[in-house]
Amino acid sequence: MVDAADDIRRGIGEATERIARAAAAAGRSPGEISLMGVTKFQPLEAIYAALKCGLSLFGENRVQEMDEKSSKWNGPEAAWHMIGHLQRNKARRAVELFGCIQSVDNIELAGALERIMAEKQGDSPGHAVYPIMVEVNVSGEESKQGTAPEKSFALIEHIAVKCPHIEIKGLMTIGPITSDRKAIRASFASLRHLRDELRGKFGLKLPHLSMGMSGDYETAIEEGSTIVRIGTAIFGARGR
Ligand SMILES: *Cc1c(COP(=O)(O)O)cnc(C)c1O
Repeated sequence: MVDAADDIRRGIGEATERIARAAAAAGRSPGEISLMGVTKFQPLEAIYAALKCGLSLFGENRVQEMDEKSSKWNGPEAAWHMIGHLQRNKARRAVELFGCIQSVDNIELAGALERIMAEKQGDSPGHAVYPIMVEVNVSGEESKQGTAPEKSFALIEHIAVKCPHIEIKGLMTIGPITSDRKAIRASFASLRHLRDELRGKFGLKLPHLSMGMSGDYETAIEEGSTIVRIGTAIFGARGR
């Protein structure tokens, strides 16, 4: 475990440095970019080690795994975002376990979240609106979750107009699975352009672009990412 903790410390140190370098190269402040540790299939000890190194934002892909982790959790408070596909019947548990759902990609799920949050607000008026992000499949790969860019307008309009209990903080995407750097960059740039278009059209702030993983986060930062989601480059290969 000591070895693993050392590796995690090194991984976080290196990612932090590379984030700062990529930000500087793009004329951005590193403070604009949050480093999320993606902890799917990682043991709690690894997450505790990351917390000790100053990491405080984490991402999980599955409600069930988060539920198990949360029931055994014995560490300080941390922020958790849901970044994997969310089924509507798990939405209620998801809002209890996560501070933000980054993977909203259809109107039915947005509607379910709205109803759940409206109900909760009924219990305690003044309850804050629940932050979400809209996942967009920019690259159009069929295997991927996320709304198609052309459908994102209807989804975002629906949430902005009909869902007062949830608030869109920005857009999320997974880069294309390719070694073609130009294609990766173009994909991240597309998400930024889409965000700019949506801002203009709906008057939303959409401050966040969640994009960039272990293999492509520097490119994502150069294209405007505000949250990079890093798993293997911090925690090593996943246990399952
Ligand atoms: C697993 C995962 C990551 C992290 O991937 P790495 O390549 O290990 O950094 C980021 N985002 C999502 C949505 C993931 O599922």
